[in-house]
Amino acid sequence: MNQRHMPVLLRKLMIPSAVTEVSDLENILDNLDAVVYVSDTDTHELLFMNKYALKNIGGVSEFDEVRGKRCFEVLQKGQSNPCDFCTNPLLPKNGDTYLWEFKNTRNNCWYQCRDRLIQWHDGRQVRLEVAADITERKQVEVELQEAQKELKVLAEIDSLTQLYNRRAFFMYADKLRKSLSKSSSLGLMILDLDYFKDINDNYGHEAGDTLLAAIGQKLNSLADSNTVIGRMGGEEFAIVFHETEKREKLDFANQVYKAVSNVKALYFNDLLHCTTSIGVSSQPASTPLRDIMREADNALYKAKSAGRSQVNVA
Ligand code: GH3
Ligand code: MG
Ligand code: MG
Repeated sequence: MNQRHMPVLLRKLMIPSAVTEVSDLENILDNLDAVVYVSDTDTHELLFMNKYALKNIGGVSEFDEVRGKRCFEVLQKGQSNPCDFCTNPLLPKNGDTYLWEFKNTRNNCWYQCRDRLIQWHDGRQVRLEVAADITERKQVEVELQEAQKELKVLAEIDSLTQLYNRRAFFMYADKLRKSLSKSSSLGLMILDLDYFKDINDNYGHEAGDTLLAAIGQKLNSLADSNTVIGRMGGEEFAIVFHETEKREKLDFANQVYKAVSNVKALYFNDLLHCTTSIGVSSQPASTPLRDIMREADNALYKAKSAGRSQVNVA
């Protein structure tokens, strides 16, 4: 700190009478558990930096070691130009604080920064930053976000087939329905695997699970932004899709039928497969999902009654 100017500073800051020495002020700033620095808003020249910042970010112990350097040269890693996130243009002209958070590139710590324009002793506007280390809080936030993501997956995804479970299927299918214009066509098919009980009876439940998982994987590969697929329970699946000229319901149902019937799952020495019956319906997207579902369910019943391994369109 430039002692020549301290009387002005002291007056401006209205320092309590007990603090009279410049060294006291420096002592206070250096011992703050926060980064404090001042830089020129035009040239980016570093004008002041407390010991905490010098040590924790700058990697030096004295201001003299960085004197004459620009803020980004000291605060950022291997940077020879101003930061693309420099807050100088964002600082309120009325001296209000601009609050932001960022991850420092030199020490990888997160900081909550409080930046403001202040007038330097020679009259120019400079940036004062006070930044507190919030790395621990950020880590907890990241862990929390990851835990929330995991919880979401656990709550929405069926662990055997990796498809949406029944509840999530209805939620996302209805989202897709509502995203379409009322006159667009919403297709819905319900699949029930044929004689699946025989797979379990002949090869065991674990074998049945293996085949279900393989079919789930196959169905998953057919999902896209206009197609929602879920496991409704047991060996029953549902697909909701935006029906267009390019994706006509019977064509798509036949494609699904072939895809499922062609799945072969290896279980020890046995190659397992099964066929599926499919009931299909399509209605204007304004129709409640349950109504379209009921129609597709009736079509599925007809496909089963007519001998299974086929597609029936309502
Ligand atoms: P169909 O639908 O053609 O009438 O005959 P099906 O044998 O498939 O029908 P049913 O409803 O009688 O039986 C479905 C069987 O699916 C009953 C159960 O053994 C089997 N299943 C349901 N969920 C699972 C599962 O998670 N794992 C295994 N391995 N089997 C399951
Ligand atoms: Mg069934
Ligand atoms: Mg079945």
